Amino acid sequence: QETVSILGLPFINGTRVKFVQGDLKSRIMNKEKVFIVTANPEIVEFAIADNEYRKMIEKADYIVPDGIGIIVASKMQRTPLQERITGFEVMKDLMELADKHHLNVYMLGAQEHVAARAAAQVKEEYPGLNLVGYHHGFFDLKDEAFAEDIAQLQPDLIFVATGAPRQEQWISMHYDKFAKGIFMGVGGCFDVLAG
Ligand code: UDP
Repeated sequence: QETVSILGLPFINGTRVKFVQGDLKSRIMNKEKVFIVTANPEIVEFAIADNEYRKMIEKADYIVPDGIGIIVASKMQRTPLQERITGFEVMKDLMELADKHHLNVYMLGAQEHVAARAAAQVKEEYPGLNLVGYHHGFFDLKDEAFAEDIAQLQPDLIFVATGAPRQEQWISMHYDKFAKGIFMGVGGCFDVLAG
């Protein structure tokens, strides 16, 4: 995977279609574990301000350029990124894959009524997808049993919509409990899904 370094972070350089239908699809089918950070300027700012958070982000398998500011920065340093890739679009692409291949999906985050509506929406829009569970995003990050219960459900896709930096912190803290799965922080995406 080709990357472009912006403020020291390696952003993937390619198209969304190739990223999802090439890289991610084969890794899902191989039951691999993958950590994706969809980095907008806010996340880059957090990473600059907080070294511990930066180390978490650097452990990601893919840092995706989500946000026009990242694209502009890449052009200014004369190493232009091919395409802006938003977390929302990657999430939708992955849900389509889940629909087609009957993958297990877990949705974690947002307010309780939002999470419920987003989950219902996903079930309706992607009937082939196996929603193994969902939970609102106001829980103790350090709760080991809570994370273990989710791992037991063996999700192929875990969308964490608790906003940065909490979502990446939760993924980093509990990643080792899972045998497989694509982990992705999706910020306010459940609010968008819920409408
Ligand atoms: N959120 C959450 N738990 C928290 C704080 C926020 O689940 O402890 C949810 C919030 O309800 C919203 C989402 O995180 O659905 C994104 O929040 P925000 O807009 O602050 O994050 P951003 O999209 O800017 O990353």
